[in-house]
This record gives sequence, C-alpha cells and structure tokens, in this order.
Amino acid sequence: MSGSAVVVGGGVAGSSAGRALRSRGLSVTVLDKGRGPGGRVSTRRSESGAFDHGAQYFTARSLPFVDAVGGWAQAGVAQRWVGQFGEVDSEGLRMLPHRNLWVGIPGMSRIVAHQLEGLDVRFGAEACGLARARRGWTVQTVSGEEFGPFDHAVVAVPAPQAAELLGTVAPAFAARASCAKFAPCWSVMAAFDGSLGLAFEGLRVRSGSGISWIARDSAKPGRAAEPPERWVLHACPDWSEATIELPPDEVCGLMMRELVGLVERFGGVAATPVHLRAHRWRYARTVAPVGSPCLHEPAMSLSVCGDWCLGSRVEEAWTSGMAAAESVLASAAG
Ligand SMILES: Cc1cc2nc3c(=O)[nH]c(=O)nc-3n(C[C@H](O)[C@H](O)[C@H](O)COP(=O)(O)OP(=O)(O)OC[C@H]3O[C@@H](n4cnc5c(N)ncnc54)[C@H](O)[C@@H]3O)c2cc1C
Repeated sequence: MSGSAVVVGGGVAGSSAGRALRSRGLSVTVLDKGRGPGGRVSTRRSESGAFDHGAQYFTARSLPFVDAVGGWAQAGVAQRWVGQFGEVDSEGLRMLPHRNLWVGIPGMSRIVAHQLEGLDVRFGAEACGLARARRGWTVQTVSGEEFGPFDHAVVAVPAPQAAELLGTVAPAFAARASCAKFAPCWSVMAAFDGSLGLAFEGLRVRSGSGISWIARDSAKPGRAAEPPERWVLHACPDWSEATIELPPDEVCGLMMRELVGLVERFGGVAATPVHLRAHRWRYARTVAPVGSPCLHEPAMSLSVCGDWCLGSRVEEAWTSGMAAAESVLASAAG
C-alpha cells in the first residue's frame, strides 16, 4: 500500500500506530513535542542514574498485546520484572503473589524507541494546528514549521491536547475527547547514599496521606545495580490534585517525610538523598475513558487514539494505536 501518514504524538499509542502503518507500506512521519521517545512511558537520566518516572511497568492481558510484548522481549527491549511486591493498608502489610510485570530495557522509554525505529520522527515538534485541504493534511507547529501534505492523519496525544488540536477540524471528536477525564500524579525521583534496606521492590500504599506507590527503580532488570539505590515515589490522585501548583522542591520535602515514616515502619535504614527531583504529570492516568478503541472519520482519513480511548494503561494505549492504524488502512484500501 502506498501513501503517507502523519502521526501527532509519539508515545505508546502513536508509535504503535506509526509502526503498523509503516509495516503496510505507508510513509510515516511522527511529530512529538518531547525531547525524546516515551511520552508517559518515560525514562529520565540524571548524574545518579536513570529513573522511570512515568509508567512503572506494564502487564499484558490480550493475545495481540501478549504477542507484541513477546516480540519486544525477543528484541531485548523488554523483560519480566520479578521481585517482592507488597501492599499496605490500615490493616498492615501483605506481600502480593507474583504477577507478570514487564519493564522496558534498559528503561521504560526503550519500548517506544523500539517502535519508532525506521520512522521519520521529529522531536521538539509541538503541533498547534491541523488542517485538511484538497491536497491532504498539513500540520503547523508552535515554532512556525508546516509539515505535509499527508494522505492520512493520526492524532495520538492525551485527550485535553487532542480536544484543542481537533477543535476546528473535527469538532465532534474534540467534544468526545473533552469527555475523557484524567487524574494528575506527582512523581519523585530519589537516589540515596546507602540502601534503604527494604525487603520489597515495590509497595502499593493504600493508607498513606500522599504516597500511593514506591519502587526501587535500580532493582529492575537491565538497570545499573551499583549504588546509589534509586527509588521512584508516586503520589495518589487526590493529593496530587490538591498540591499540583506547589513548587517541586516543596513536594519533594512532603513526600520524603512520608517515605521516612514508611522506611521506619518496615524496618529499613535511614539514608540521605543524593539526588531528589519531582515531576508533575498533569494528565497522568485516565479516570473516565471514552469507551471506543479509537475515533475514526473515514471521509477525512483521520484517526484519534490514546490510552484515554479505552483505559489508563500501556496495553490500552497500544491497543488504541493499533485500532487507529487498522482504521486508516481500511480507509486507504477502500
Ligand atoms: C505517573 C504514571 C504512572 C503510570 N503507571 C502505569 C503503570 O504502572 N502501568 C501502566 O500500564 N500504565 C501506567 N501509566 C499509564 C501509561 O503511561 C499510559 O497509559 C501510556 O503511556 C499512554 O500512552 P499514549 O501514547 O496514549 O500517551 P502519551 O504517553 O501521553 O503520549 C502522547 C505523546 O504526545 C506528545 N504530544 C502531546 N501534545 C502534543 C502536541 N501538541 N504536538 C506533538 N506532540 C504532542 C507527548 O509528548 C507524548 O509523547 C502511568 C502513567 C503515569 C503518568
């Protein structure tokens, strides 16, 4: 099949759509406003090592995604994360049975980088306008560049950004995107001068005031295991919402205070942070998805996808991206 497609947004959804379109012969250009691959499946490098500060791991339930993850494992870009995981609530700590958790190797963002291989990817390209003329789709960026024309367009950005981009060109899709709701999340990346001595790799905190999850990032497979020990802390949605405009340093202080309490409670060892940063995810997890695999308008050959179409996980982002690609291919064939 010949033709060209532009994919706006190169996270899991956009990269899976782009890869599927490329594999069927279309020439694909991916525009992403970020500095590198990943979107919310993100890996932040620092002088103390790398941190997965967005998605922590992913699970694979549907057969097509199980197959895709098998391919990533064969390519050496994903591996199972085997470790001790617990959950604490008002009744105490419970260790959880082993689940099939997967992570990107050497960082979460690698799975997206892998999917983008062979595509024409432009980072630092923030789309601010999308237009359809007789000659096809064109995309304008905030830096004044114009890309196109393209035969097909896939919009694969979080719903609030999709609603903005689609407002004029596809108002019905913009309205549906506006119905998807997201919760924010503060993520703190901390490296310590010694081990915290905790007996688990990940802990879901159901009784905390701010923290909802802590993970020993340096214990994931394929990471530098030598010191410093690196931890990622996530805050729960309500607390993140209430503190979203606080300066990051203040959030670090509040969440570290709560971590110290958890370390004491679970028999760990006090250690001093040698690296401490907070990242504010304004649109972290979908709380109200739109409930269709993707939005597609065959007459314009426009598809809209993202985790928010189906849910809040990596698997749902991938499934939505694949559905968008299938819809575009069906339009192209028809
Ligand atoms: C803190 C946190 C923890 C999470 N934990 C888990 C977990 O443990 N397990 C799990 O399965 N999922 C988890 N998730 C959810 C998972 O990360 C997402 O479901 C998935 O990454 C969404 O992929 P996406 O491609 O739909 O969107 P995104 O990853 O958001 O990708 C959208 C892309 O569009 C780009 N973009 C946005 N606007 C524009 C524009 N105007 N022009 C150009 N580019 C643009 C962005 O830079 C981004 O790269 C977590 C997410 C967060 C934030």
